[in-house]
Amino acid sequence: MRQFKSIFTANAIPCFRTSLLMLLLMLSLPGFAQIIKKPIPDKTVILSFDDGVASHYSNIAPLLQDRGFGATFFVCEFPPNFADSTKYMNWRQMQQLDRMGFEVANHTHNHAPVGKLSEKEILQEISYIEDKCDSLGIKAPISFAYPGYSMSETVLQALSKKNYLLARAGGKRAYDPLKDHPYLIPSWATDPNNESEIMEALNQAKDGQIVVLTIHGVPDLEHPWVNTPPEMFLRYLDFLTENNYQVMSFEQLAGYIDFREAKNQLKIDLEQALRN
Ligand SMILES: [Zn+2]
Repeated sequence: MRQFKSIFTANAIPCFRTSLLMLLLMLSLPGFAQIIKKPIPDKTVILSFDDGVASHYSNIAPLLQDRGFGATFFVCEFPPNFADSTKYMNWRQMQQLDRMGFEVANHTHNHAPVGKLSEKEILQEISYIEDKCDSLGIKAPISFAYPGYSMSETVLQALSKKNYLLARAGGKRAYDPLKDHPYLIPSWATDPNNESEIMEALNQAKDGQIVVLTIHGVPDLEHPWVNTPPEMFLRYLDFLTENNYQVMSFEQLAGYIDFREAKNQLKIDLEQALRN
């Protein structure tokens, strides 16, 4: 009996207290509340396409659709040649992307260097795209990408005012939803010379980390330094298909991550690498 007492009164209660303390500690750590809604499978990749380049509609969308891949298209009216339909998509084509089930997201009206603008100017740049989407029956944008990775605290505040769920930056590293603030989601950008770097990056999509690719035109005739040659893009798609990657848009990723909870819990660090 004495032994019984010693186990269940003397030892068990402190032990129970320790467990309770551990549990409370775990619950108070970022991520244990609700950032992760359901486990993120290994090999989860986000494809994001910037600048509303004509090839997004003519080349990319059909290829993605054939493979059942989701993607986010960050659109803008890229100056000065937006009206040239050989270079950029028109709004009907952007509307078609939305109809096809892709995510149409906000890259500002004029591809503005938002980091240098006042809050009023930033809000105008953001609202223009929202109004266009609204008038064409495109779903209200929930994702934003910083043009030229231009950012500031004012931009982040404007995004928060506008209720954006997330914003994509650069930085060449995998996205860890338990560490990276959702307004500073890192990505790799593809260019004509970094195929091996991108292939290596894709291997990092595991253990809760997500790989986000920033892709411009395929091809990108106006901006050759961010061009992705179509043959190279096909090699990426083949790799993703053959290795059973789960390829999706940011909007689809919101099924796994509670971005609002992440925004409440995680700190903003503008000092880290955020450009490509
Ligand atoms: Zn851009």
